[in-house]
Amino acid sequence: MIIETDKIVYEYPDGTKALENVNFHAEEGKIVALLGPNGAGKSTLFLHFNGILEPTSGTVKIDGEPVNYKKKDLMKVRQKVGIVFQNPDDQLFAPTVMEDVAFGPMNLGLSKEEVDLRVKESLEKVGMAGFEKKPPHHLSGGQKKRVAIAGILAMNPKIMVLDEPTSGLDPKGASHILQLLYQLNKEGMTIVISTHDVDLVPLYADSVYIISKGKIIKEGSPQEVFGDV
Ligand code: ADP
Ligand code: ADP
Repeated sequence: MIIETDKIVYEYPDGTKALENVNFHAEEGKIVALLGPNGAGKSTLFLHFNGILEPTSGTVKIDGEPVNYKKKDLMKVRQKVGIVFQNPDDQLFAPTVMEDVAFGPMNLGLSKEEVDLRVKESLEKVGMAGFEKKPPHHLSGGQKKRVAIAGILAMNPKIMVLDEPTSGLDPKGASHILQLLYQLNKEGMTIVISTHDVDLVPLYADSVYIISKGKIIKEGSPQEVFGDV
């Protein structure tokens, strides 16, 4: 298992219990979908996958290793697990698309040539080549999402975690994003996504979890979870 949580509990500082004994697994090279209503705990769970949140109790293992919450070790986890947030405006803050996508790889201390190459390849992959000089806030919702994904891709993670990647997009934009994720998965990346879009999940996910009020209430293959309709 490339992601493995064992009975994690998370309580926010104000006392809100957002996760209760959550066991979640993602197998390497698979697409795993997390479904659940607003407030169920999806974002809270995802923030545990790269150590942004430390569980109140329980353990998180990434790539077989328990997450260590020392700064130096967190850097390593964050290189393995890239998180794309629900609202791209939380992620895009540089004056241009190019600078935004370059931010992550630059922080890894790569050479300028390597950073430039990664920016170019990532923007091509998400279909945003040609937008390098544009300010991110001038882009459409779907374009912003693709640039946010490019910024994560440029870090070359093994696992990409996406919070509601299709929310707020029209059906065409949503289908673009899903096709892109499918392609990245075919190239070997493990993909974890949360979504409201129940109808689409059986089409692409290898396994599905349903979360409600901080607890996993169902898990299995799409057939097991939704039946053979
Ligand atoms: P989802 O992503 O499924 O919408 P969240 O993980 O955002 O759910 O929220 C789970 C629960 O934790 C909700 O009750 C939410 O109100 C609460 N919550 C989220 N963020 C915070 C926070 N920063 N402080 C306190 N409670 C929070
Ligand atoms: P999501 O459903 O994707 O978690 P939300 O709209 O629930 O998005 O949350 C947006 C932001 O508000 C997040 O940063 C979350 O941590 C924060 N938040 C959510 N619920 C609470 C809460 N009860 N108290 C404080 N902050 C919260």
